[in-house]
Amino acid sequence: MSRQFNRRRIGLLAAVVVAVAVALVSVAAQQRPDPQTAVNNAFNQFRTLKEGKNADYIPALAKVDPNLFGIALVTVDGKVFTAGDIKTEVSIQSISKVFTMAQVIQEQGLDAIEKRIGVDATGARFNSIIAIEGVRTVVGTGAPEMNPLVNPGAISATSMVTGANANAVWAKIIGFHNDSAGRSLSVLQDVYKSESDSNQRNQAIGALMLAYGYIKANWPQAVDLYTRQCSIGVNAKDLATMAAMLAASGKNPVTGKQVMDAAKVPGVLAVMATAGLYDDSGKWLYHTGLPAKSGVGGGLIAVSPGKFGIAVVSPPLDDAGNSVRAQRAIAAISNALGGNPLAPAAR
Ligand code: GLN
Repeated sequence: MSRQFNRRRIGLLAAVVVAVAVALVSVAAQQRPDPQTAVNNAFNQFRTLKEGKNADYIPALAKVDPNLFGIALVTVDGKVFTAGDIKTEVSIQSISKVFTMAQVIQEQGLDAIEKRIGVDATGARFNSIIAIEGVRTVVGTGAPEMNPLVNPGAISATSMVTGANANAVWAKIIGFHNDSAGRSLSVLQDVYKSESDSNQRNQAIGALMLAYGYIKANWPQAVDLYTRQCSIGVNAKDLATMAAMLAASGKNPVTGKQVMDAAKVPGVLAVMATAGLYDDSGKWLYHTGLPAKSGVGGGLIAVSPGKFGIAVVSPPLDDAGNSVRAQRAIAAISNALGGNPLAPAAR
């Protein structure tokens, strides 16, 4: 009788011990690493990943060192965490589309972009001409189903920046990029020249956008300034600071400057969420929940609103034109830190 009683007690004790152990393990699993640890872990995990290939349709991009790998994370209170090469500059390429769109939204309002260009994903490649043909019939009759993060919409957004001449327009474009990065950026002249010599496709897009009414005048100037903005040199820390400006409701958390109105930031983030990685935007959002933007120079920025901006520079790209290592590293870091805004309970 008493032996049976003891057995029961031991059984009960064992059950309690197991339950406590399970609870402890699950608490530990929910503990987040500190940002520096998360950044270091991703750097070490992906530094040897060799998938993807530099863009080569702009000849200067093929010459960039494919081993370049830098990660930076900037929190909304201005703390900076980095790993790898955060000094070497690459051309910003399509990531500039976000900041020119933001500049137009800041100056002319959310409606201006929606009515002229649209805020819908095209589901097509970034320089698709078929996408232009697909929506041109709705110009003037409603919001076009395009957006400022694909080349036709981006060249049109650049054409919307006001200014008496090309230099005046450029001063506003570079000024907004500088404020977002918190330092004075400059154009990588070799990339600008290389793309200017080989951008016949974008010239064709610019001419079509004028023909269909998205661009009102002077498409060659819009294409040239767009090419220039794509050639701005940035490192991983610049890009992360630019992303952090968007994470911090329009305020650059490093310099403290309010770059754009807080109320206008969610519109920018929405377009990034739906179209930031071109035809792979859905897949990216599915895994991270983060508004993001890639560039064919190898940069990728992502925004965890209210938490942090993050950027990776690594030139080899996948078929959709997005940096392979950057996607993997940012997803790993954000998911480790609970950065997914669509999963608030997991924070
Ligand atoms: N300047 C590049 C182009 O127009 C930008 C493309 C990109 O980064 N996806 O082709």
